[in-house]
Amino acid sequence: MKLEFRQKILEALGIKEEDLDTPDFPKVNKDNWRVFWMLHDIRDFSFEEFIRRRADMEQGYMDGRVIVRLQKMRDILGFPIVVSSGYRSEEWNRKIGGAKNSLHLVGKAVDVVFNNTKEKMALISVGALFFNGVIVYDKHIHFDLRSYPYISLGGKQD
Ligand SMILES: [Zn+2]
Repeated sequence: MKLEFRQKILEALGIKEEDLDTPDFPKVNKDNWRVFWMLHDIRDFSFEEFIRRRADMEQGYMDGRVIVRLQKMRDILGFPIVVSSGYRSEEWNRKIGGAKNSLHLVGKAVDVVFNNTKEKMALISVGALFFNGVIVYDKHIHFDLRSYPYISLGGKQD
């Protein structure tokens, strides 16, 4: 998406670029998530949603930007966003056949599921404002914080 176009939309939505960054929280983890949730007014997600596997809770973390951006999406969309995968340990990622250098391994990616085509379309269009990486699968959409804009339909592996 053209940068200035994206900025115009965000401006129209009353969202500033700095609202989307969380420099103090490169790693939101089991010890600091409560503070992060409060500081960034996260209302519609729980930390556990981002660390889906209990065994990963100890070392698991998310880049705060993913969570803040997902909350902004939730505010705009007005329907619940269900996270199916956030952080993945190497072991877990291997087991489920995730890509070797997946951004899930460093807490910079999230997968969300949708119930119908309407939700799917809304998630893609709004998500593309907040995430550079958008990969559309049959039953979920992958968003990530890669540094260059990339959108792909019919993703196979993430
Ligand atoms: Zn993914």
